[in-house]
Order: sequence, then structure tokens, then C-alpha cells
Amino acid sequence: MPHQPIFEQVEGPVLVSACLLGIRCRYDGRSRTRRWILKLPHIIPVPVCPEQLGGLPTPRPAAHLVGGDGRAVARGRATVSTASGEDVTRCFLSGAGYACKIARILGVRYAILKEGSPSCGTHRVWVRNESQEGLGVTAAMLLRLGICLMNEDGLMI
Ligand code: SF4
Repeated sequence: MPHQPIFEQVEGPVLVSACLLGIRCRYDGRSRTRRWILKLPHIIPVPVCPEQLGGLPTPRPAAHLVGGDGRAVARGRATVSTASGEDVTRCFLSGAGYACKIARILGVRYAILKEGSPSCGTHRVWVRNESQEGLGVTAAMLLRLGICLMNEDGLMI
């Protein structure tokens, strides 16, 4: 487990990117397991994969943001696309909406999210083929709810 004091402050039900909890929900059908999250003493991890919740299959084509980060997508000023040009914005927004609904039902105050994802990224995302500072679509919508976001390395926003 990374020695990040921030994780000691986290308590209660915590929304966690499902791929970080060993669920094989990534676009390539794999996970990015961080077992230590399950060992945090004061949390109830709630696994959520917004892309699956939005109706996308697993595995699925990788997607990237177009025209801005997740905040811009949530405002209708940017989109999400696969490499072949399929517009999957609606699925990303739908999944983000469900993640927010789950957070509200459970009274979630914290989320630990997978960095770099067009849904879950908290500090960096791929806009076309460039890694840029920004938020994924779900991260942006959770932040609007006032949820404290951090990535798997404890970087907080
Ligand atoms: S949408 Fe989030 S939870 Fe789902 S695979 Fe991507 S990073 Fe993991």
C-alpha cells in the first residue's frame, strides 16, 4: 500500500473504480488491481465501472476524449470517441449518471478512481492521442456532486 496519509482519512462507503478492485472490466478485458484498497481499515469499497454501467461491452474498443476533458463533455462541449470514430459520448454520460446515482444513494463522500481513464481519470486524460491535464467524464460529474476524488496514488482533487 502506498504510504499516503490521505488514505487514512478516507472512511465510509467509497466509490472505487471496479478495475482497481480486481474486476476485469477494462476495455481490454483486464483489471488494474490494487489489493491494498481492500485493506483500508475504515472504508466500505463500492466497485463501479461507469463504462459498463453506460451499456458498453467488455472488452470494447478503447476510447478517448475529443475537444476537451470530462468537464467539457458534461457541458456538451466535447465528445468521446473510439479510434474508429464511433461516438460513444452518450454511453459515457449515462454511466457517469449511474455512478452519481449510486454515490447519492449510499451517501458517498470519497472516490478512488483509476488515473488516465476517459471516465475515471482525476488528473490526466487522453484527449485524442495526447495525455493532458484534466478529468474523465465520471470524475467530473462526481466532483460536481462535491465528492472528494483521489487517484490510486493518493493524488487528491
Ligand atoms: S471505466 Fe473506470 S472502472 Fe471501468 S475500466 Fe475504465 S477506469 Fe476502470
